[in-house]
Amino acid sequence: MNSAKRLAIGIDLGTTFSAVACLDDLGRPYTLDNAEGDKLTPSAVFFDHAEVVVGKEAVKAIATDASQVAECTKRKVGERVLDQLLGGRQYPPEAILAWILNKLRIDARQQVGDIDQVVITVPAYFDEVRRKATQDAGYIAGFEVMDIINEPTAAAIAYGFQQGITAAGKHNRQPQHVLVYDLGGGTFDVTIMRIRDDDFVTLATDGDVQLGGRDWDERLVDLVAEDFLRQHGIDPRDDPNARGRLWRDCEDAKRTLSARNQTNVVCDYQGRTSRLEISRARFQEITQDLLDRTAFTTRQALQASGLEWSDLDRILLVGGSTRMPAVADVLADLSGMAPDRSISPDEAVAHGAALHAAQLLDRHAGKTPAFHVTNVNSHSLGVAATDPRTNRPRNAILIPRNTPLPARAQRVFKTQKAGQKSILVQVVEGESPAPEDCLQLGKCTVRPLPPDLPAQTPVEVRFAYEENGRLQVQVQCAGQELQHEITRDNSLTADQLDRWREYISGAPPTASAGQRSSE
Ligand code: ADP
Ligand code: MG
Repeated sequence: MNSAKRLAIGIDLGTTFSAVACLDDLGRPYTLDNAEGDKLTPSAVFFDHAEVVVGKEAVKAIATDASQVAECTKRKVGERVLDQLLGGRQYPPEAILAWILNKLRIDARQQVGDIDQVVITVPAYFDEVRRKATQDAGYIAGFEVMDIINEPTAAAIAYGFQQGITAAGKHNRQPQHVLVYDLGGGTFDVTIMRIRDDDFVTLATDGDVQLGGRDWDERLVDLVAEDFLRQHGIDPRDDPNARGRLWRDCEDAKRTLSARNQTNVVCDYQGRTSRLEISRARFQEITQDLLDRTAFTTRQALQASGLEWSDLDRILLVGGSTRMPAVADVLADLSGMAPDRSISPDEAVAHGAALHAAQLLDRHAGKTPAFHVTNVNSHSLGVAATDPRTNRPRNAILIPRNTPLPARAQRVFKTQKAGQKSILVQVVEGESPAPEDCLQLGKCTVRPLPPDLPAQTPVEVRFAYEENGRLQVQVQCAGQELQHEITRDNSLTADQLDRWREYISGAPPTASAGQRSSE
């Protein structure tokens, strides 16, 4: 057996930056450098004719070939294909993510040899469809994805490790209540956890998958572009490459404003120039509503956890955007305590994922895992049912949000007519009572039913929501376990996954793609 396979590898597949971590001989996590010598790899992919370029060089190309660069693709996960044409082709988001993961795999190989089994992180607020797509991207990239784990949970594990909480023999401590505030480039997540000894329990989670540092950048881009437009009567945002250059300068200015009170952005476009002085106060003013949204969601999550601010022992800051001073200020105002900056906002998620991977490998090897994690689901899971009173479709929620996982629920359907051959169950995720306002997870078709069933025969459909937020379905009728298949609107089929895997990573198919499609 290849000893490299035993390595515990965690991957933080971020919207804007990704990182890979591994454990050293003493079981401590560390971040691997990529081929460029950096710990963070920009999650951007540039289609340069026949060549696919990932990372820093792809970000550079945003200034010259913006239309051929895929970035922030994680925000599009769950869609069937990207609306952007890259090298004349439309790609599914999974393929773009797989190119990023593939670079991480190839670069990691230089340092630690072949890596195969990995844990990949996802925002806690990711729905089931996005979770599956992330696992599929890992498969395409040539990995065996042992598990996916929520980013805030991973960060809390890294924190626990650093505090010695997960070390053997440290027991009977007071439980700590920790709020993880994760503001990255593209997503915002907030999670409240209880850590006691080696037990990590998520109490509540909330978030926004369309809110992150990128939105702060956009505000600066608009400010500078509008100033340019006032002066010169033309808009640099009209040209994708000029816009790309401006974005890069504004992102840089944003970072400067985390360290200094004042900066300026120079904009060159069609031979004309503008220069805008921007103070930190002005920047905070034009982005206040974005920060307010995170504060609102944070309060809501705390309320869902049943805790008060005074019950919290610590507020952990995760994600590059928490370097903006306004973030710590708003949290200090809300909670009355200074947020904790003891974990690396860029690396903690990958480190926690590597620790989780080690724990899974231990468990497979029959050893007692060093710690235990309990998660909750971030969205309610239900089926589209007909309301008997109104005869209209409604979302019958089986597993409400913030239920500890794994969770099980069942529902009995009845056949309508004698000799019925199949039953169709529509699975939805979301809080709205109207199924059409929820996310359609897929249709679960049960067939063939046993022959000659009388009308009104009960068919029991059981949902198992796993610890990682993925759904398994089992169906029973007349004492028999029945076959079923979930068809998903935007998902790749097992065949397509195998073909993409071969194309992008050159890895041969394994049984896991086929197994997954029959879930
Ligand atoms: P993700 O995991 O979503 O890819 P990261 O946690 O890596 O995101 O954070 C990246 C975001 O953090 C980017 O939007 C970047 O501009 C922002 N960022 C990084 N450093 C700073 C800083 N010093 N000040 C403000 N924002 C920063
Ligand atoms: Mg992140």
